[in-house]
Amino acid sequence: MPTFEENLAKADTYLVRFRADGVLNQIGGEAVAASSGATFDTISPVDLKPLAQVARGDAADIDRAAQAAKAAFPAWAALGGDKRKALLHKIADAIVARAEEIALVECMDTGQSLKFMAKAALRGAENFRFFADRAPEARDGKVLRTEGQLNLTGRMPIGPVGIITPWNTPFMLSTWKIAPALAAGCTVVHKPAEFSPLTARLLVEIAEAAGLPKGVWNLVNGLGEEAGKALTEHPAIKAIGFVGESRTGSMIMRQGAATLKRVHFELGGKNPVIVFADADLERAADAAVFMIYSLNGERCTSSSRLLVEDSIYPQFTAMVAEKAKRIKIGHPLDPATVVGPLIHPVHEKKVLDYLEIGRREGATVAAGGVKVSGLGEGCYIAPTLFTGATNAMRIAREEIFGPVLTAIPFKDEAEAVSLANDVDYGLTGYLWTSDLTRALRMTDQLEAGMIWVNSENVRHLPTPFGGVKNSGIGRDGGDWSFDFYMETRNVAFATAHHPIPKLAG
Ligand code: NAD
Repeated sequence: MPTFEENLAKADTYLVRFRADGVLNQIGGEAVAASSGATFDTISPVDLKPLAQVARGDAADIDRAAQAAKAAFPAWAALGGDKRKALLHKIADAIVARAEEIALVECMDTGQSLKFMAKAALRGAENFRFFADRAPEARDGKVLRTEGQLNLTGRMPIGPVGIITPWNTPFMLSTWKIAPALAAGCTVVHKPAEFSPLTARLLVEIAEAAGLPKGVWNLVNGLGEEAGKALTEHPAIKAIGFVGESRTGSMIMRQGAATLKRVHFELGGKNPVIVFADADLERAADAAVFMIYSLNGERCTSSSRLLVEDSIYPQFTAMVAEKAKRIKIGHPLDPATVVGPLIHPVHEKKVLDYLEIGRREGATVAAGGVKVSGLGEGCYIAPTLFTGATNAMRIAREEIFGPVLTAIPFKDEAEAVSLANDVDYGLTGYLWTSDLTRALRMTDQLEAGMIWVNSENVRHLPTPFGGVKNSGIGRDGGDWSFDFYMETRNVAFATAHHPIPKLAG
């Protein structure tokens, strides 16, 4: 395994081009600056120094990109499924070939540790392969017969689509949203998050170098309220696949109303991990710690509320606190680092404010609770556990999106369900018990789009991914992604000379 110093040196060589040329848009197969010439800085959360100047696209750039996607759509949609499959596999191969570059650039841009990002490219490639293999069947439907009539259902790609992604794991999420769109036969305009735009640039370059036709995939960088808003309002864009905050989702719904946009939302979460006394406590503690502190807690599926049966509450929270205190915090490229710096000082301030709010609300800091000093200028916050909390506290209700866990005791199953469901969100739930009947009963009652029993989040790509309540609309994964990117149609054939009503004599 390469050393910290070797990783730093390599990352530097991969970043040289971004420092020199900035992060350009990609429209109709051309790398272009914003038409206004405007740029904004992206900084590294490691030292807050600028990494690159990024094209600040606006409505004019979005219009050019949407027109390019519209022009490329008929040919791409008409391409046979087998050809799309082969091309998407070539993109996956090319991603794997540049896995090291993707991982190191992603770490420096997001602050996520290499421990987790080393596999980001491979997971992104897997997303491409998964949807590539389904491309040939994406259009297939059913045959529905009735007397005198044969119905053929089928799916057609909806048209050019807009994809808007967040900053937390930008490479993986971009592949997760874009691969099914391309497999379905849609063309794409992608607007990545302004805090971490670098790997979206690598991704579109990789796709075009692998042979993706010009204009099928366009990239416009910019601010949410400028480029993002324009994308959601553009009449040539038929649907918006969005991953981000719940309140941005509701803005996008409003913005897209005039052009009747179809929307797919993967939004925020305040996910419970529920631990009963009969669970394997060591495994449950490891899983709870993994789900809140991996990826710096900047993870939509993080288990940010720890609901513990009261008989084991002191013992279990002590186990979690002990593990949290031993987590290695440091530079994301240090192979030993688990928790790196948060994405940006603006986000760090939000998380630090919640640490203050938790204390003011009367919760106890059992681990962390502070900004870490001695690691330079970066946004380092210690893995934090609040105990003695109630579900009424803001630290138990609002998405903090950092390494902050709030532990609440419950007395019985009914109270566990009621606490778990008593938030606006409903993305995931994690349940730890050795009582199978209880697990079956509870999974029926928990308000969450995805529930893992006796497990952390382990994704199986054919399964549906998405949330209920304020955590989202629609599902990704398996065939569900195609339902969003495609229109289902029915064609009815008369198979006999049935009597046709005569209105005139
Ligand atoms: P955000 O909502 O602030 O931004 C997401 C994207 O939306 C960015 O590209 C941003 O520029 C754009 N945007 C902002 N305002 C816009 C507007 N008015 N119109 C169009 N686009 C606009 O989210 P974030 O802070 O980047 O990411 C963190 C959030 O993402 C958290 O809430 C997290 O839970 C969520 N998330 C959800 C999932 C999931 O699968 N459910 C996965 C990852 C992250």
